[in-house]
Amino acid sequence: MVELKGQCHCGAVQITVPSPPEEIIQCNCSLCRKSGWTGSFWNPDVVEIQAEPEILNSYVQGDKMITLWNCKRCGSHTHWTPRTAPPDRMGVNIKMFDAGHWRHLPVRKVDGANL
Ligand SMILES: [Zn+2]
Repeated sequence: MVELKGQCHCGAVQITVPSPPEEIIQCNCSLCRKSGWTGSFWNPDVVEIQAEPEILNSYVQGDKMITLWNCKRCGSHTHWTPRTAPPDRMGVNIKMFDAGHWRHLPVRKVDGANL
């Protein structure tokens, strides 16, 4: 497997994961819909986020289980990190990577709006 390197639209946030994910998550909850999120799940230990601390903007909503991060400069929603959610999983917006690396992967639809 080859590692994937992605970035937000302006390039201020760089993301590296060790390989393509096994599947892509499409969720219909309000947060995923309104942020244009298409997810992939990772153990936080293997994800590298490179960004100046002041470029990342955090958003915590509702059940406060996760923190959603976006780039202050270009607005791209790049990743989320767990708060009260299980600490061994974080999300990366697969759209930060070139589509050639992920558009062929299986899509798992999650009915987050009705959980
Ligand atoms: Zn950016």
